[in-house]
Amino acid sequence: MKKGTEKLRIYSQVFGKGDLTAEHHELLESKLELARTKLQLDSLMIWGAISTKSMDRITSACSSWGIEPHLWYPVLADAPVCNTEELEVQGLSAAQDFMVSEEQLETGESFAFLCPSKALVSESLISRFLEILSGHDFRGVFLDRIRFPGPTNGFGGLFSCFCGQCSRFAGEDVLKDARERYEALFSKLGNASTPDELLVALEEGMEGLLSFYESRERLVESIVSQYSIHARSVGMSVGLDLFAPSLASLVSQDYVSLSGYTDWIKPMLYCKTFGPAGLPAELLSLANIAKPMTPRLDRRALLEGLCCFLGIDGGEPITSIDPEGLPLRNFSRQIDMILAKDLSPETDIYPGFEAVDFPPVYSINHEHLASYLRDCMTFETGGLVLSWDICKMKDETIEFVGDYIERNS
Ligand SMILES: [Zn+2]
Repeated sequence: MKKGTEKLRIYSQVFGKGDLTAEHHELLESKLELARTKLQLDSLMIWGAISTKSMDRITSACSSWGIEPHLWYPVLADAPVCNTEELEVQGLSAAQDFMVSEEQLETGESFAFLCPSKALVSESLISRFLEILSGHDFRGVFLDRIRFPGPTNGFGGLFSCFCGQCSRFAGEDVLKDARERYEALFSKLGNASTPDELLVALEEGMEGLLSFYESRERLVESIVSQYSIHARSVGMSVGLDLFAPSLASLVSQDYVSLSGYTDWIKPMLYCKTFGPAGLPAELLSLANIAKPMTPRLDRRALLEGLCCFLGIDGGEPITSIDPEGLPLRNFSRQIDMILAKDLSPETDIYPGFEAVDFPPVYSINHEHLASYLRDCMTFETGGLVLSWDICKMKDETIEFVGDYIERNS
């Protein structure tokens, strides 16, 4: 947390794949100059699938501006490693009802998740990470995609993993029991005719799946521990990209245990984003998955029950989540949930909000920016992350953030 008069730490990110074009580099360099002069940007997290040549150019641009370069590494999906099909998660069904916009997929992300228990024993995954880490002058590592697939990965991803390696890790009986309990949960959902009945069915159903979800959390923790130990052994700080508290248990991220392996966390508190990790996207995807199982609930009742289950304020009318997104008051509500947890006192919390202009996923405006910034400053989180790609931010967004912080510090 922020101590006394310490400067608010401001981080941002850059996404790309392979060699960036000359125009992309020039755009990034102009954004870095603006961000450094207008808001004293402290760190840039650089996506790990960017080529060595481009990475060199970006890290030197950072150094010349006094910005710390960090490696932004996607561990369990989109890792820059070949031939990972055999390592992918195996869901309850192979149903492909993946809910990510074409626009986002076109940027080069697949969101195809690997099974953590297979990843844990894969030499090629960790050695690729170490190779990239040692190839540049990074100051820290930011681990992303350290989780199970979420609702935007559809039914087949959300209810996973049932592969042989997971069976060995958790015990065959745990997986067999989980299959049966999922079936029982799905049939209970079919009887729910009010939001309250849906809530009870979900709570009871998930209670029965506790040991399965505990084994998933241990797996995510083992992966984070593995990568974190390697990064710290070469003097790097470690940050983690985490789902919002309302969604974290669905993807088996336990804030408390994970805080023991990290210097800072970035909870992704995206109230308006229609893409993976965005609260509205994940909520609506969950509703799509639940819809065929809940024939007695209309859309409003289904969303009300799910919001209640997740601790999300759906606003009024609740059906306006699509296309309005969620009320911005969910941002402070999620921070409250984090502060109520018993995290390691050494772990800093830098909330991440979506500062991009990237339709149809989301385009920020000054009203939304002011609301996010006000909450970050009220909670004195000590830092924030302008997510998730500085090249997709308007200059006026960067300028607004700088002016707002200067006026209100
Ligand atoms: Zn598995």
